[in-house]
Amino acid sequence: MAYTRLNGTDVNCKLCPRGCIIKNSKRGVCRVRENRDRTLFTLIYGTTTAEAIDPIEKKPLFHFWPGSDTYSISTLSCTLFCPWCQNWEISQASPGEVYSHENTPEGLVKAALESGSRSISYTYNEPLLWYEFVYETSKVARDNKVQNILVTNGYITEEALLPLVKYIDAANIDIKGFTEDFYRTYCRGSLEPVLLATKLMKREGTHIEVTNLVIPGINDSLEEIRQLVRWVKDNLGADIPLHFSRFFPHYKMADIHATPFATLLKVKEIAEEEGLQFVYIGNVASESENTYCPNCKNLLIRRMGFDVLKVDLSEDKRCPNCGFKINIVGEVNTRSFIRWW
Ligand code: SF4
Ligand code: SF4
Repeated sequence: MAYTRLNGTDVNCKLCPRGCIIKNSKRGVCRVRENRDRTLFTLIYGTTTAEAIDPIEKKPLFHFWPGSDTYSISTLSCTLFCPWCQNWEISQASPGEVYSHENTPEGLVKAALESGSRSISYTYNEPLLWYEFVYETSKVARDNKVQNILVTNGYITEEALLPLVKYIDAANIDIKGFTEDFYRTYCRGSLEPVLLATKLMKREGTHIEVTNLVIPGINDSLEEIRQLVRWVKDNLGADIPLHFSRFFPHYKMADIHATPFATLLKVKEIAEEEGLQFVYIGNVASESENTYCPNCKNLLIRRMGFDVLKVDLSEDKRCPNCGFKINIVGEVNTRSFIRWW
């Protein structure tokens, strides 16, 4: 899927905005799409590197079926090359370099149903590169009333996203920075297609949450953060949850220190000042994981880590104190892995 044949023996992949022109017997930049006599093959259909049952809060999705479990799966490779990647062992691997097993769409949906999960999350590495398998699986999942979630970098062309998005119920999209220079320098990609894909998903009715990893000295300029926040508000809406994530030294950025908590508080303050209603701080335990009513500040959902400890919402997802409508999809349940003896 998502390619055209060119004159001669080349093909033009149209899955991600990189638009590789691939010669016969060669692969695209992502290493998992190969031209075999003018037919573009995916080398990772069904190739699965991890399967786990996760709390949906881990994606992070805080406003989509809070307290539910999601069946999380991944393959290998990525369309981008972030030097801080937490999952670089799979995201930067080529076929055959990491342990994997094979799945079918039907087998995967069956496993999700048997696990008691109400959704499948395509996650850990970049799921949009698993395009053909995610497309087929999401159709089978939809037929079986299992929801489909993308945890994604949003680096996809409009023409590839359109057929897929109608099967996607929710997405957490990582907007990694807010300048073209940042995307070019650190990710070897570009920002504009990510913004376009995010708007398209929102327009097509997918529940959207946005994540931004705040890296000291790299993308933490307060002006850049303000521009990101304004874009989210103007293009997605004030009620879109925005997760600022704490950076920890890792992979090729082991020499950069963790994001100071004060910086995270400051960027949260900016986002709220600009009018965003649900702003969270991730990767650090704090009150900033809770959901408060944007109108009267009543505590609606108390979280700790991935646990949902307390819920105070009316059945129609309004604040019980002032009646303000909260952007939450699905049932809201408590969940706690903490055991008290
Ligand atoms: S998906 Fe891979 S082959 Fe296709 S354009 Fe992007 S990097 Fe190139
Ligand atoms: S887009 Fe995500 S999976 Fe890909 S390299 Fe960047 S952080 Fe890793």
